[in-house]
Amino acid sequence: MRPFGTTIFAEMSALALRTGAVNLGQGFPDTDGPPEMLAAAAEALRGGANQYPPLAGIPALRHAIAAHEQRFWGLTRDPDAEVAVTAGATEAVAAAILALCERGDEVVCFEPYYDSYAASITLAGAVRRPVTLRPGPDGRYAFDEAELRAAFGPHTRLVLLNTPHNPTGKVFTPAELALIAELCQEHDSYAVTDEVYEHLVFEGTHVPLAGLPGMSERTLRISSAGKTFSCTGWKVGWATGPARLVSALLRVKQFLTFVNAAPLQPAVAVALGLPDAYFTGFTAGLRANRDRLVAGLTAAGFDVLHAEGTYFVTADIRPLGGTDGVEFCRELPGRGGVVAVPTQVFYDHREAGRHLIRFAFCKRPEVIDEAVDHLKALT
Ligand code: PMP
Ligand code: GLN
Repeated sequence: MRPFGTTIFAEMSALALRTGAVNLGQGFPDTDGPPEMLAAAAEALRGGANQYPPLAGIPALRHAIAAHEQRFWGLTRDPDAEVAVTAGATEAVAAAILALCERGDEVVCFEPYYDSYAASITLAGAVRRPVTLRPGPDGRYAFDEAELRAAFGPHTRLVLLNTPHNPTGKVFTPAELALIAELCQEHDSYAVTDEVYEHLVFEGTHVPLAGLPGMSERTLRISSAGKTFSCTGWKVGWATGPARLVSALLRVKQFLTFVNAAPLQPAVAVALGLPDAYFTGFTAGLRANRDRLVAGLTAAGFDVLHAEGTYFVTADIRPLGGTDGVEFCRELPGRGGVVAVPTQVFYDHREAGRHLIRFAFCKRPEVIDEAVDHLKALT
C-alpha cells in the first residue's frame, strides 16, 4: 500500500486548517442533518443502544433501507437477507470488492474515480481497468463507447460504477447505463454501484443500475447516510442486492469491522423514513448552492464544467494561467484564500485531468460567497 501515501482530502483539509483558507476541498457539509435524526441518536445513546448490534445491522434500519429503496427507486428487497449495514459506503465498497474478486480479476471502473476504489482493488489483489471520462465541447463528461467495450474481457469480474459521480458531478445517462448493463451481462460480470449521491441529481432523475433488466441478480447497490442526511462523520452505509452477494459481503465485513455505529443505526432509520419534503428540500438546497458557486467561479474566470449532481463541480484552470492542478491547489490557499482538490490524483492517466480541479458546494451560501470573493481577486 506504500504508493497510496496520504489521501488528497486529508492533505487539503490540513492545508485549510493551517492557512485559514475557505475549505471547498473535502466534501462535507457545514450544517447538521435533520433534527429528528439527531434527536433519535441522542435518545438511543441514552437509552442503552451501546453494545454490538447484529452483523447485518439492526432490523429497524434494514427495514428502513428496504422501504427507502422501494419508495424512491422501485427496488424490492428482503430486509432480512438482501440488506447489509456497513461502516459507511467506503467499507461496503471494500467488502464488496474483497468478497467478489480473486487475485488477478479485473475491475472496470471510470476515471477519475473516488480514491478508495483503487486502494480496495489493490487490497483484493485485483486489477483496475479504468475508462476515462472526458469533458466534451458541451462541458459534460462522457466516455468513449469503444474504450468501455475494450475494457471488458475474459478476466472482468465486476464493473464499479459511481453515479452521480464524484469528482465530476456527472450523472450517467439511461443510454450509458444500458450499455454498461449490456456489457456486464455479455461478460457475465457483477456490478457494484456507489450511489451515495442518489438524492443529489439536479437535472433529470437518478436511475439505479440494479433496476435495469437482467441487472438485479448481479448488482450490489451501495449508499450511505453521510451525504443524504449531512452526517459524513457517522459512517453509516449499506449495501443491497441478491442474498448470495449480500451474504458474501457480510462474510468479509465480519472481519473488517464486524459491526458499527449501534446508537446511530436507529437514528438513520428515522431519517430514511422522513417525508418526501425532506428529500426534495435537500436537493433544492444543494441545487441552489451549485448555481451560486458555478456563477461565482465563472465570474472569477474559470472554465466551469457542467455538474448535474453530487456535492461537486470541476473547473479548468487554464483560463487563469494554471497548467497543473496539483501545483495550483497547493498555492491557492496562500494566493486565493480557498482550498480545492486537484482531480488528476483520481486518474491512472493523470494527463487527462491535469488542468482540472474540484470545488465542493455542500457549504452555507455565505461560505460559498466568501470563497468566490477571494477567487475573484485572483484575476
Ligand atoms: N463514495 C463516494 C463516491 C464518495 O464521494 C464518498 C465520500 N463521501 C464515499 C463513497 C464514502 O462514503 P462514506 O463516508 O459513507 O464511507
Ligand atoms: N467523499 C469526500 C470527498 O470526496 C471525502 C471523503 C474522504 O475524506 N475520504 O471529498
